[in-house]
Amino acid sequence: MKTPISDYLVEILDAVRADDSGEVASYIPTLAQADPDQLGVAMTTVFGRTYTAGDADTEFTIQSMSKPFAFAAALWEHGEDDVEKIVGTEPSGEAFNELSLESGTHRPKNPMINVGALAIHQMIGDPGDSWTVRSDKLVKFFSALAGRQLRVDEDAFESEIGSAHRNLSIAHMLAAYNMIDTNPEDVVRGYTAQCSILVSTRDIAMMAAVLAAGGVSPVTGAQVVARPIVRQVLSVMATSGMYDEAGEWFTEVGIPAKSGVAGGILGALPGQVGLAAFSPRLNDHGNSVRGTALFRRLSNDMGLHLMDAQAIGSRALRAVVSEKGRSVIQIQGPINFTAAEIVVNRLAQTPPSESSVVFDVSRVGMVNEIGRRMMLEAMRRLNLDGKTVLLYDPENSFPDPDIGGGVKPEILSEL
Ligand code: GLN
Repeated sequence: MKTPISDYLVEILDAVRADDSGEVASYIPTLAQADPDQLGVAMTTVFGRTYTAGDADTEFTIQSMSKPFAFAAALWEHGEDDVEKIVGTEPSGEAFNELSLESGTHRPKNPMINVGALAIHQMIGDPGDSWTVRSDKLVKFFSALAGRQLRVDEDAFESEIGSAHRNLSIAHMLAAYNMIDTNPEDVVRGYTAQCSILVSTRDIAMMAAVLAAGGVSPVTGAQVVARPIVRQVLSVMATSGMYDEAGEWFTEVGIPAKSGVAGGILGALPGQVGLAAFSPRLNDHGNSVRGTALFRRLSNDMGLHLMDAQAIGSRALRAVVSEKGRSVIQIQGPINFTAAEIVVNRLAQTPPSESSVVFDVSRVGMVNEIGRRMMLEAMRRLNLDGKTVLLYDPENSFPDPDIGGGVKPEILSEL
């Protein structure tokens, strides 16, 4: 059987192809020369399968899609508290290249606009590092995310540096308020190299999939970004990634995303999929016109809007059965707060009839921290009620099941 997903991607490219509205970015000379008709789409699941259509392997510069990853690198190197002193997390509602700072603190409002990204860029590496050391570090990190060696497009770099008046003025403004302690020209050079890294639509889907998978590379299984950092990055993407179009984007598409002025859009749906679109013509907000249309289609057709309440009706409690003089609580699926609540509520409403209670978690998938704590607490309370608690956990979903004071349920090797 041929997977229908690739055919679907071809179909949505055809649906948006005729729209030639918008303009390619002209303030960077190499971008003004881009073929405006290029069109590509890609998706990579958190399990590492990739589907593409159109010009998905054509390389273009990453531009502002680099900002979430540079933000992740700064959080990794300095921690949230130090980064927060330099850059805020409030949506600016302004254009990406606005000369603006938060009143009072003089921090850039967020790391997704140029002023914030310049401040974040100069946090990479050690104080005194040259701009090439900083950009080399980022090339290495982005390569790990993409799963292949990436490089800076020297022509694009030279072209942007030659006309970087706006970013230079932003960097000088940051220096005037002591928000950067590196030479402003060097900050702009390093940041521009960061923006000039070449990627394909396929690469972007892979990099987005790492974010969707909580920082784990879907291909190598390596933790490339720490989970709390991913949460921070995705939150800022959701609120500020699409600049002064962020509200409309989140309402209509509902996927944390980041656009780049070369025409790329990166989207990451937590727990599910990394998405990428590429088409160079931009709307007034600097976001790809057909890229936006593709994301709208993907979100609607595939039910990817983050605010769609589709998970109603968890079947966490499969059954409670009496077997061999024991009550067996059969639990299944991912165990988060809502799933654990179903189980503990049932145990509280209708206490198990037998004196031995088996928690059969052999069908359980992911268990998050609160899910684990609630299940162990249920075991502890049944134990206090005088029940003998047993655990059947062949997949080791509940490692080291200490239910308090070193007490553990009796582990069953078979039911
Ligand atoms: N390098 C570009 C700039 O700083 C990135 C902007 C963008 O992609 N929106 O202007």
